[in-house]
Parts: sequence; C-alpha cells; structure tokens
Amino acid sequence: MKKVVKFGGSSLADARQFQKVGEIIRSDEDRKYVVPSAPGKRTSGDTKVTDMLYATYAYAEAGNDFTKALAQIKLRYQEIIDGLGLSLSLDKEFEAITENFKKKIGSDYAASRGEYLNGIIMANYLGYEFIDPAEVILFDEKGEFMAKKTDEILSKRLENVERAVIPGFFGAKEDGSIKTFSRGGSDITGSIVARAVKADIYENWTDVSGCLIADPRIVKNPKPISTVTYRELRELSYMGASVLHEDAIFPVRKAGIPINIKNTNAPKDPGTWIVESTARKPAYTITGIAGKKNFCAINIEKDMMNAEIGFGRKVLQVFEENGISFEHMPSGIDTMTVLVHQPEFEKKEQRVLAGIHKLAEPDSIELESDLALIAVVGRGMKAVKGTACRIFAALAHSGINIKMIDQGSSELNIIIGVKEADFETAIRQIYSIFVDTV
Ligand code: ASP
Repeated sequence: MKKVVKFGGSSLADARQFQKVGEIIRSDEDRKYVVPSAPGKRTSGDTKVTDMLYATYAYAEAGNDFTKALAQIKLRYQEIIDGLGLSLSLDKEFEAITENFKKKIGSDYAASRGEYLNGIIMANYLGYEFIDPAEVILFDEKGEFMAKKTDEILSKRLENVERAVIPGFFGAKEDGSIKTFSRGGSDITGSIVARAVKADIYENWTDVSGCLIADPRIVKNPKPISTVTYRELRELSYMGASVLHEDAIFPVRKAGIPINIKNTNAPKDPGTWIVESTARKPAYTITGIAGKKNFCAINIEKDMMNAEIGFGRKVLQVFEENGISFEHMPSGIDTMTVLVHQPEFEKKEQRVLAGIHKLAEPDSIELESDLALIAVVGRGMKAVKGTACRIFAALAHSGINIKMIDQGSSELNIIIGVKEADFETAIRQIYSIFVDTV
C-alpha cells in the first residue's frame, strides 16, 4: 500500500505538533510521501507563517528594512528545529531569501518559502528525500497549472523514490519563477502527488476529525460525516463548507483515489472518507448542509415571455458581457429570476439593468438583495420520499419564508433561498429535522 499524507499548517505549527506528525508517519509503513504546509497558528491569536511572509515581502517591496520581520520568521523555524533536537541550519536559505526579497522577486516566491522551509525540516526530521516542487509542479507562462505535464514529470521523478517530502502550495513556471496555488493550496499538491505515485489513499491531516454535517458556528456540536462522495463534497464546498481546497478533488478523482480527512490531534478518530461512489448508506437522509449569504435576485417580468424564443439567452448575454456569473435561474411563465453574488453584481448593477432593458425589453425588473442560499446535500435523498416536504415543513414551523427553491435533476441537492436574517435559524431547523429527529 502507498499513502500520501498531507499535513496542514496547524499540524505543523510548532515542534510538539511536528512530533505528533512524526509519530503518525512512523506508525504506518505505507505513509511514504509527505506534503507539508507552512507552520500555522499555534494559538488563536497567532499569525500563520504564510501571512508573515506576505506581509514581510510587501514591506520589503515598499523599500523598507525588513531584517527584523524576516528574523521573526526565522525564529519560528529555529524553535521547531531546536524543539526537535535537529542539527540543521537554515542560514543559507535565509540568505537567499534576503537577496531575493531585495531583488523584489515576487510575492508568490515569498509565500512559497513557508512550505519550502518546513519541507526541509520535515525531510531532515524523518530522514526522507526532499523534493523541490519548483522542479516537478509546473505552471504555464499564464500561471495555469499544467496537470498533464506535471503528472508525467512528477511520476517519473518519484518512480524510484521510496520515501519523500514534497512541500505543498507551489511549483514553478517554465522560466523558473515560483508560482503558488491559491490559499490553502497544499491540499492540491497532496492530491497531485497522490495521483502521480498512484497512491491507494490520500490522507489529509488537519485539526478537525473530518467534515461535519453543518457549520459548528451555526449548529452546536454537529455530527461528523463518515463518508461523502466527491460530488456531494463539491456541492458542499461550493456553498461554503471548507475542509479541503476545492481544486484538490480533481486530480485524485480522476485516478479513483479516496481521500481520508484525519485529525492530527486525534489520530484514532476515523475522520471522513471522500470517495467516488459508495454503497454505504449515509447515516441520515442528508449528508450535509452548507450555505452562503450575500446574494441578490434580479426578477424580470414580461407578458408572454414563455412564447418569446431567445428571451433567456438575451438576459444571460447581458450578464456574460458584464463578466458576472449567475448562480441560479428559476423561472415562471412570464417571469425569470437570476441569482447573483451581490458584491460582484453591485458594482455593475446599473449597467446590467440598462443592458437587460435594451436587449430583452422586459415589462419590469425588480431587485431583491440580502438573500442567502442554503444547499441541503445528500446522495440518500434520491431514495427517500418527502425530503423536500420535511425541509419546507421545518422552515414553515419557524416562520421562515422561502424565497427560492431549486432541485437539481440529479436529486443530489436542494437549494433554498431565504432572507439573510433567517439564514442561521433555517440551517438549524433543517439540521434538526434530519439529524435530531430520525
Ligand atoms: N500555507 C498556505 C496558506 O496558508 C497554503 C496551505 O496551507 O495550504 O494558504
């Protein structure tokens, strides 16, 4: 068996956390490829090394003396090295970083040093080979990740490497300049490595025991999700549930490699399995609930809209021309509603309205702002009658007005639009009706 193990920033925040990670890796022969993040927060008020690097670089770029700020970062690493009792010096690396900051080499390079240095420590601590992602994770000149080429090069590079540490979050363009993924991108590196070595499992170690059915900031002590499919997770993460970087799913999904989200601070907990498909019945009808605020509905009315071929296209063309993506588009006979992200829409609001008037000539357009969308997701919903009824009854009993309903043809999710003020109550009610009242 081959496992790729990725550890998030909180799992590597200090020497004590490193030791836990060391124990986890050494306790299982199969944990052969390790992808570390940069050191995260040690306490809630602490700063992640990645953020320190971004800030220090911005300070350097503005022409300031950044020596002190960089020394703070070095200290974070030195404490880890000392705490682990390693005889490793990062002096050379920090000299190079200082030189490159002076040259104003770029913020991607700066941020990437967080995982780069943590990778050097990790490789030294474990006695594994260190592989610089700049040589094996490739981006094109526009900064787009080159999946195929990376897979070819990385799989070849790792072919005869028994055990290795490959820092997360970054790679390089063909001209050698460093490029990072978006924030949280070490998850993506883990997934890319898992695919390249044809791993049996991609373990993603973090500080929670997997995904929860609902956001713990809204629902008290929500139950964990034991198994979730890639598609369900995609729906949930799109709507705000954040366990894994969205783009981390694609590489392993293609290769059929399951992801196991695990807790470094509670390694015995089973965590959550993310799989392509499963015959395992979910514990509840729904797998999870997630939601987002800040939506706006554009309600368009026109008599005989139903008979006017091309009306919808004209309306959507206006959104396209203004570079606004729409979320949902429920429609009636003479009405059509387009739901968009409010902050994105607000800036171009009047241009969009004028465009719709000009192109589609509606009778009226009304805007409704401050809406929230809630996604109730579950592969189990397909087989159960009355799911929608339970959701709506739960909301009705709490006096919540439903503004929009959208059920995809896959029956994997039901999206409900409510006023932002009802958002939290709605989620609690839906959770309660499915999980507390089985
Ligand atoms: N260190 C990076 C960040 O803070 C990447 C990661 O942790 O995945 O976003």
